[in-house]
Amino acid sequence: MSTIALERDGRVAVLVLDAPGVPVNILSRDVCTELLERLGTAQADTAVNAIVLLSGKPDSFVAGADIRELAAAGSSGQAREMSAEGHRLMNRVAASSKPIVAAVHGACLGGGLELALATHYRIATDDEVTKLGLPEVQLGLIPGAGGCQRLPRLVGARTALDLILTGRSLDGRRARRAGVVDDVVPLVILRRVALEAAARLAGGWRPRRGPSGVVSVLLDRNPLGRRLVFAMARRQTAKRAGGHYPAPLAALDAVEAGLRSGMTRGFEREAELFGELAAGSVSQRLVELFFATTALRKDVGVDVQSPTIPAVERLGVVGAGFMGTAIAGVAALRAGVDVRLRDTDLARVSRGVLAARDVIAKARARRRIDRPEEARRAALVSGTTGYSGFGRRDLVIEAVFEDLDVKRAVLGEIEAVVPDACVVASNTSTLPIGLLQDAARRPERVVGMHFFSPVEKMPLVEVIRGPRTGDAAAVAAVRLGRRMGKTVILVRDAPGFWVNRILAPYLNEAGWLLKEGASIEAVDRVMTRFGFPVGPFALLDEVGLDVAGKAAVVLHENLGERLAPAPAVAWLVGQGRLGRKSGAGFYAYPRGKRRADPSVQRALGSPGASPPDDAQIESRLLLAIVNEAARAYAEGVVARPRDGDIGAIFGFGFPPFLGGPLRYVDVAGAGDVRRRIERHAAALGPRFAPADALVRLAAEGGRFYGEAA
Ligand code: NAD
Repeated sequence: MSTIALERDGRVAVLVLDAPGVPVNILSRDVCTELLERLGTAQADTAVNAIVLLSGKPDSFVAGADIRELAAAGSSGQAREMSAEGHRLMNRVAASSKPIVAAVHGACLGGGLELALATHYRIATDDEVTKLGLPEVQLGLIPGAGGCQRLPRLVGARTALDLILTGRSLDGRRARRAGVVDDVVPLVILRRVALEAAARLAGGWRPRRGPSGVVSVLLDRNPLGRRLVFAMARRQTAKRAGGHYPAPLAALDAVEAGLRSGMTRGFEREAELFGELAAGSVSQRLVELFFATTALRKDVGVDVQSPTIPAVERLGVVGAGFMGTAIAGVAALRAGVDVRLRDTDLARVSRGVLAARDVIAKARARRRIDRPEEARRAALVSGTTGYSGFGRRDLVIEAVFEDLDVKRAVLGEIEAVVPDACVVASNTSTLPIGLLQDAARRPERVVGMHFFSPVEKMPLVEVIRGPRTGDAAAVAAVRLGRRMGKTVILVRDAPGFWVNRILAPYLNEAGWLLKEGASIEAVDRVMTRFGFPVGPFALLDEVGLDVAGKAAVVLHENLGERLAPAPAVAWLVGQGRLGRKSGAGFYAYPRGKRRADPSVQRALGSPGASPPDDAQIESRLLLAIVNEAARAYAEGVVARPRDGDIGAIFGFGFPPFLGGPLRYVDVAGAGDVRRRIERHAAALGPRFAPADALVRLAAEGGRFYGEAA
């Protein structure tokens, strides 16, 4: 079946890209071949004097190159050849004797934008689905079909580097302002405007482009200025990537090579670097992660497509505290649902409503929404000290104190006022959903929805199926989480669920390292250098030491001696140091800034001990997570390795370039991981006993990810 239809409109050939049977257009090898054929036909037709490229899809122009084909390339040589093929295709487009106009509506990303850049004129719609960008670095790659060459020539080195190094995308208007497209129009007139532009170009008209303004002339046009731009970008990029992500620096190289030595040399360098990156482990892990998140979206573990389960339109949130208000704000902002926020006294309710609206105001400050939209979303949030309005809720999230009796009592109150079909979701971080269900009138409607703090930023939600949770409740929770912009994993009702379960031994191990004389800053520095966004002590201070301490006790009680808490957290709580929120924890926070506090080190470390070195710190902390992940996965806490790895990466920032704790085992080899863990067990005792699952995989030479995963 063909993807590209060739239509005629006067003297203009219109190529409509519409891949059959799939939601988006992708530049696969077959599509590229077909594109060349169609272009050839149009070129040969003497009645045609210009060409327009359009998409037949409602929300994608071309969403990118075919990553599956790339993943199948076995070697850097093959990947390099794919890039060179991309160059040949784009060069044919660019060299067309008849002008080509790209009419862009929807996603125009990666190879899609590289195609548009090779045409002679670009028009984008002002629609919100239109996004133009080169997100390759997010997959550990660089634009490999000429993007590193054509974009800087079109918009100048600074703008091009900004787009290529961050991978961010622009809507139509911003793309126009940046010079990426020549015109921006409403969708209804896109085709007409494209046809007119094509006719004008055929008549010899040329658009006026090029950087304007003094700064641009100094920095983009002049070689000395350009060298400055590259030196600065290189410094910033090296700092940001922390040595773990080679793609941004490679992109800089590819762009610079082209600007310095010409397009041809630029293409060669681009293909070379693309090949190296594609065959490297970072890109392979990031590509796997991309496939994993796509697969998770398609199959989370319950049938989210089920047409009989109604969408949540009215949400209740009980408990206007730290979490409840943020959940309320994000639900109104992102999901656009009506939110009723309940707490016990008026002062808390009004503070809570203001805090929820503040989440929405911040989105406007960041220009995610405009003022009328802010007003509309803010009006969705209302508050009550009773349960008025709860008779019409579709789903209620409870975020009251982490106390079983309180939660059970609140659950009873909620069930008494909401309709029978209403789902009640608990945001508990440690209490078993089963114990809440024991006290519920309609246990099949009770589910866990574990959000992470700060809710506005953290991309994960764990939906927990208690032993009696029905499909409808699980589906409603998954859908709401997604509408709130979150990645959702489905988790079994086990102590700590997935994320806190595998995090607990890590945070605890940090406490033991401290006791052995490692310094707080050294531990945090080693782990951030390793690739975590923050170190374990800074993380504990953010979470709150009272909260973390309670969770540690619950996990110790439920999972046994290997999770016996190190003394640090309880001691600090006893001193009233609860972390950042109280102005002091492992660190001090004068004026909100994190600072080392030697008094904590003195009180908690063993003076005079020979402290664990950096390699010890890194190995023990990493393997504490990996070992617990192996154990929890074998217990079925998550159904698939990919869910567990996504949970670790999105839940607490496990380094994405390692692919997650389970993938880490597969890549390093279970035997090797087991040996390293056993070495720690010999020195430190049974808390490092290797998980049965690791022992078994090591013996079989097996992997967590099977062929199908
Ligand atoms: P919080 O103390 O800030 O808020 C709890 C709120 O619940 C308070 O405003 C309190 O007045 C209210 N409340 C108590 N009983 C109530 C009742 N009967 N009706 C209505 N409101 C009532 O606590 P938090 O940090 O927001 O935690 C709430 C829940 O979220 C806990 O279960 C916690 O384990 C979980 N959680 C917290 C975090 C975190 O980082 N703080 C992360 C994930 C989950």
